[in-house]
Amino acid sequence: MPPALIKTKDFDVILKKSARRQSVTLKVSAKGVFLHIPTQLPMDIAHDLIEEKSDWIKQQLAKQPEPEPERQWQQGQTLLLFGQHYELQLEQKGDSPKVKLMNDAIILSGRLHRVGLKTRRQAIINWYKEQAEIYLNNRTEELSQLTGLIPQSITIKTYKARWGSCNIRGEIQYNWQIMQAPPSVIDYLIIHELCHLKHHNHGKGFWGLVEQHYPDYRRQQAWLKQNGVQLQL
Ligand SMILES: [Zn+2]
Repeated sequence: MPPALIKTKDFDVILKKSARRQSVTLKVSAKGVFLHIPTQLPMDIAHDLIEEKSDWIKQQLAKQPEPEPERQWQQGQTLLLFGQHYELQLEQKGDSPKVKLMNDAIILSGRLHRVGLKTRRQAIINWYKEQAEIYLNNRTEELSQLTGLIPQSITIKTYKARWGSCNIRGEIQYNWQIMQAPPSVIDYLIIHELCHLKHHNHGKGFWGLVEQHYPDYRRQQAWLKQNGVQLQL
């Protein structure tokens, strides 16, 4: 059965009926407008309610982020490295997929007409991980020397919802996706994790130490908060 809809001239409302429900709830998300109602609720009451809330619904809809287009890993697609934009270029050359950086392009070569999007994506992700392995190890060592905070080990991982972590054994993990952020933001992440070697929490002492080693950290933190979701590959 298709979902019950109330159409208005500006938007459609999807009705969710439940026999157990006692009250009416209106929800607006990037997926649409939903009205949860008890099964017995007369439809004219539902219509009235939507009309009454129409301005609010429109405001909420305007605030929703545009859905991200699915990446296709095609020629000309933009990729980020150190906060810079690079164009993905495809080359039908060689056998298994290889990735390299040249000027302002990231070049994916291989028998590309034979491989699916998954293989292209994996080749590019592997390449980012290799860059992360080299850069984050070197940069952490430099910042360790400056701060005197030295981790036991560094591991590059894939995380869905975090940029790094530091456990009580002093082992630091970084999400390779941070390689897409500007170097100043990467430095903030490294300093953040290094400071966890002394403070295993986000208390006052921790933030004081972060600020001591990176006075401008709030700007980098805000950048991550604002742009972080776009760094999912
Ligand atoms: Zn932390």
